Amino acid sequence: MDAKIVLLPGDGIGPEVVAEGQKALNAVARKFGHRFTFETCLIGGCAIDATGSALPDATAAACKSSQAVLLGAVGGPKWDDPRAKTRPEAGLLKIRKELQLFANVRPVRAYDVLVDASPLKREIVEGVDILFFRELTGGLYFGESGRRPHPSGEEAFNTMIYNTSEIERITRMAARAAQGRRKKLTQVDKANVLEVSRLWREVSQRIVRDEFPDVQYEVLLVDAMAMHLISKPRSFDVIVTENLFGDILTDEGAMLPGSMGMLPSASLGSSGPGLYEPIHGSAPDIAGKGIANPLATILAAAMLLRHSLALETEARAIEMAVDNVLNAGHRTSDIAAGSKSVSTSEMGSLVVAQLEK
Ligand code: NAD
Repeated sequence: MDAKIVLLPGDGIGPEVVAEGQKALNAVARKFGHRFTFETCLIGGCAIDATGSALPDATAAACKSSQAVLLGAVGGPKWDDPRAKTRPEAGLLKIRKELQLFANVRPVRAYDVLVDASPLKREIVEGVDILFFRELTGGLYFGESGRRPHPSGEEAFNTMIYNTSEIERITRMAARAAQGRRKKLTQVDKANVLEVSRLWREVSQRIVRDEFPDVQYEVLLVDAMAMHLISKPRSFDVIVTENLFGDILTDEGAMLPGSMGMLPSASLGSSGPGLYEPIHGSAPDIAGKGIANPLATILAAAMLLRHSLALETEARAIEMAVDNVLNAGHRTSDIAAGSKSVSTSEMGSLVVAQLEK
């Protein structure tokens, strides 16, 4: 396969971890006979410094003409001034919009050898393997909002709004993913209170019943989900939910495995390139030290192969290589619990060496 992949290293540790993601993709290309062409573009704070824009037009155009985009992270204290005309995060929001990415996909997997780093007990976390689908372009964050005078001063409002097709498309994506896993889909809402949730429930139930009869479908109220996610996380396979609930629940879920440096994510649309990135930020406290954990970005590269290039065997090869490296006892300092650790590039090379076996 020939594929064009855009790299957006961004700020802080972004360039360090994206370099390792690229190393893993190159190793896959060598092993399986593919040709990946890379184009590196600016986004975030470094793009503001160079061009005045957090997402230069050239970056947007390169991403649109690619098959997939691998991003590091954006932001840092240098660009934190609240009076600044533009902020690094604006680049992220804009690229998601330009690529029409409506689904944020986040796997949460507990690695057996790292389970003791979790804030939860081993018997709860062991074996957790969840795939979250968070709707990304609708709901409270994008509905009408404003402020108006009120006898006490002011009142402010946001509107939660979704239409049938927005719910259908992400439900289909999540149900399709469930078919390739343990065939269970949990839809999270607040249907006892919110009309929007009642529409979510009707539409998603219909889609799964009519189009995915082999998928077991359940609904859970978001307050109950917040509890179940830490009391019995193993009982979930694929979870689909709207934007605000997903924002909160995916962060709660991210705590389960006990390390930010291990979790990848993907943002996907109906067609066109997907955007793949680690869930962590630019970690300015450790940037430039060569100690960042690159595994989240390497696992994001695996997601890229799976979702944008339909290379499932290759994606699994990366995931297995990461498993093997961890099982062999190699750790970056964030997951080493004080014992011997390897550098960012050493960790990347260990994964490549496993891939080459
Ligand atoms: P962060 O995720 O960057 O860091 C939180 C803590 O986790 C830090 O102590 C950091 O050293 C550690 N950490 C994060 N990733 C790590 C890795 N791969 N290996 C080892 N340790 C790691 O979050 P923050 O400190 O709240 O934010 C820093 C900057 O990143 C801010 O400017 C924020 O706006 C930005 N940010 C960007 C994104 C993104 O680009 N998607 C996401 C979150 C935060």
